[in-house]
Amino acid sequence: MTNMTHDELTIAINDFLAKQPLVVSFGAGVDSTAVLVGLHNRGIVPDAIVFADTGAEKHSTYLHIIRMQAWLESVGFPSITIVRYVPPRAPYKDLEGNCTKNETLPSLAFGHHSCSLKWKVEPQHRYLRSWAPAVDAWNRGETVVKAIGYDNSPADQKRAKKTFAIGGGKDAGKYTYWYPLQDWGWDRTECIKQIVAAGAPVPPKSSCYFCPAMKHDEILELSETHPDLFARALEMERIARDGRHGLQTVKGLGRNFAWADLDLAALAAKRDAAAMEA
Ligand code: SF4
Repeated sequence: MTNMTHDELTIAINDFLAKQPLVVSFGAGVDSTAVLVGLHNRGIVPDAIVFADTGAEKHSTYLHIIRMQAWLESVGFPSITIVRYVPPRAPYKDLEGNCTKNETLPSLAFGHHSCSLKWKVEPQHRYLRSWAPAVDAWNRGETVVKAIGYDNSPADQKRAKKTFAIGGGKDAGKYTYWYPLQDWGWDRTECIKQIVAAGAPVPPKSSCYFCPAMKHDEILELSETHPDLFARALEMERIARDGRHGLQTVKGLGRNFAWADLDLAALAAKRDAAAMEA
């Protein structure tokens, strides 16, 4: 695929999509919002748009989903289907409850990815396992095309090296993964430009509000814009530190630092000084 010219690739992709159901994995951030805009620009209407809710997104992200529903309706796209992992017996209903009940942190804090596999990937696949267009495609021996919003930055290019890739794991052979932003050459700046040009809402950065991948400036912003959620993240960290397992290998939500130890006033002063210089 990657040796084709741009026009040949476009024809091949459109031909491919004409035969197989197209599902957009919507994370409610800039990249997946840009995927929807780019599809609309090209006259490609997805068959489903699926968002897996961990129950721990920031209020601003949930607001973005509501705004996107309106934009999607205005362009004749299907609305966003919101799915959730439902624990069969456990006494919690979201990822925050999962962590605090078990007195631990999201697995990413320990360098693993089971939090996103359990709360983001699996609920989407569970929903799609009984989604009629997917079942029909699989019965025909075809795959479902799942569009993922990895952009054209070097970091995301490492995460997805091919235009199309067949997925593995439990659903091996059922999905063909497609990274349209990389085909289109859209990095984050271009994504935002295209979202604005399409009249769609530009989202805030999306992740669980206690995500261990958050950087200092994002944690600072959370503490300023969502102090209630910041306090809950600190409480999760405290429970994990003082709980029955303790934190043996990491210091806290930041892995090599505890969010509770951050000097927020110093971070804010540094940020403000940088803004004055710019
Ligand atoms: S956003 Fe972070 S904490 Fe939430 S599921 Fe993904 S990796 Fe885990």
